[in-house]
Amino acid sequence: MQILCPACKKLNDSADKCNRCGGNLSDLRRIRRAAVEELKLGKRHLLRMNAEKALLSAKSSWRLKKSASAAKLAFLASLMGGHFSEATRWYSMAAAGGNSAPARNTDCS
Ligand SMILES: [Zn+2]
Repeated sequence: MQILCPACKKLNDSADKCNRCGGNLSDLRRIRRAAVEELKLGKRHLLRMNAEKALLSAKSSWRLKKSASAAKLAFLASLMGGHFSEATRWYSMAAAGGNSAPARNTDCS
């Protein structure tokens, strides 16, 4: 998984230090890994038809890394849980590639 150095904006492949400026990327890599793990957990919850836990995991992943995958999982979990307006917002973010503002949590009661 590639990590963008926040200091010099170089994409780095697998090292914990930036190849260009030597910046420490290990914390970013750990955050990215945690986001992926939350995503995997959320997918398992979704497959077990547990929409609420899937949505929690998707939101956790989104907080760590605003990815299209997290938005897609949140969309599916919202649909499954019957939170249709929230699903619409997550769909927009998934379609935007995970680059827009996070969903407001207004209808998840
Ligand atoms: Zn750098």
